[in-house]
Amino acid sequence: MNDQGILVVISGFSGAGKGTLIKAMLERHHNYALSISATTRKPREGEEDGREYFFVTRERFEQMIEEGQLIEYAQYVNNYYGTPRQYVFQQMADGKDVILEIEIQGALKIKERFPEALLLFVTPPSADELKRRLVGRGTETMDVIHQRLHRAADEAEGITSYDYILINDEIDACVEAMHQLIQAQHRKVSSSLDFIEQMRSELKAI
Ligand code: 5GP
Repeated sequence: MNDQGILVVISGFSGAGKGTLIKAMLERHHNYALSISATTRKPREGEEDGREYFFVTRERFEQMIEEGQLIEYAQYVNNYYGTPRQYVFQQMADGKDVILEIEIQGALKIKERFPEALLLFVTPPSADELKRRLVGRGTETMDVIHQRLHRAADEAEGITSYDYILINDEIDACVEAMHQLIQAQHRKVSSSLDFIEQMRSELKAI
């Protein structure tokens, strides 16, 4: 019907389990491509350049902004994060749905520039559970955890700009719900205008 892939933005509080959900979805369903962002944040232990992120200096990031290489970017807890344009457009043209795991300012920019993008927000069942997961992950200092929880309170204000909310209670169910929502987006009339136009002209020609 429509060969072009769609843009899927997945946001959620730091510690909501987005990364785990997305990884599981990519393993189970094969028509998705995950965009790799550029960031000025330092790699965490186990992270590799070009796999989790392209880790770049502030100077390089600012150069990427100037050269128009990013389709969106934002500052998050003292670092820049942004989505490189080329990979995203290439994958969509190849018919893949491209997943952007990005925070809320970037999500809103994507919605502005690509109104047909699907915006999903992932949250744990409660604020207590969020804190428990962030502490349990053990990758950040308490200071950074507090900054991230503070940021979560701000982000909660923006959830109503998203299309759907996913409560990450049980991972398998959440992965399937995510996949179903993306598939449903393909069936939207507004995503199928080329097909509709073609059908109209074929019907007139009969
Ligand atoms: P982390 O440091 O935990 O990897 O990511 C911090 C936040 O930055 C997360 O909410 C993540 O979704 C967001 N993020 C990662 N890449 C991008 C990006 O390219 N653009 C924007 N706007 N946010 C991003």
